[in-house]
Amino acid sequence: MTDTASGTPLRGGRIRKPDAAAYAQAAGILRDGGLVVFPTETVYGLGADATDDKAVAAIFEAKGRPRFNPLIVHFADRAAAEEAVVFDERAERLAERLWPGALTLVLPRAAGSAISPLTSAGLDTLAIRVPGHHVTQALIAAGARPIAAPSANRSGAVSPTTAAHVAESLRSRVDMIIDGGPCPIGIESTVVDLTRPEPALLRPGG
Ligand code: AMP
Ligand code: MG
Repeated sequence: MTDTASGTPLRGGRIRKPDAAAYAQAAGILRDGGLVVFPTETVYGLGADATDDKAVAAIFEAKGRPRFNPLIVHFADRAAAEEAVVFDERAERLAERLWPGALTLVLPRAAGSAISPLTSAGLDTLAIRVPGHHVTQALIAAGARPIAAPSANRSGAVSPTTAAHVAESLRSRVDMIIDGGPCPIGIESTVVDLTRPEPALLRPGG
């Protein structure tokens, strides 16, 4: 079944409490290329397997987000992130001090990175983060893969900080919503671009 106006597939995602059964089901959804909404310390994210082109394409479709606007990829830890991007000394220092947490780093893609090129809109850079929220960490561990995730709102709308807020606009377009309560920080991550000689603050945030 599709949304007749847009042709977007209807998924009818269930809202689940973050328990072992929900994580197991979410892991299966991620493996199958589906979409899982989850809380982070910043805002709710709309996530998919970052290594799966079709899954990443589904994120853009569900949000109505233009394909040229790149996504952040969420990793379990720095070691996992270092397989996808090239760290320099500045990145090492920032990661040491601020991860896990609300800091996103833009770094050059590593040669042979498994992350779908769609994630970064075809750029040779990648925005990455290691979140600290226990639900986000449990989901990444359960799925055993990096998760590409923008905020879980329709493109142009406000970033959601509760599951109920997500459900209002996106429930029919995702496969599951994990309700982990309100996001502790409530604003987006800070984005720092380290691909230039001088670090640039692309987005002030939490
Ligand atoms: P959102 O996914 O809605 O939280 O937004 C992600 C933010 O990170 C947006 O402002 C993007 O433009 C930015 N971003 C993601 N990937 C890159 C990249 N490779 N280079 C520069 N900015 C990026
Ligand atoms: Mg957003």
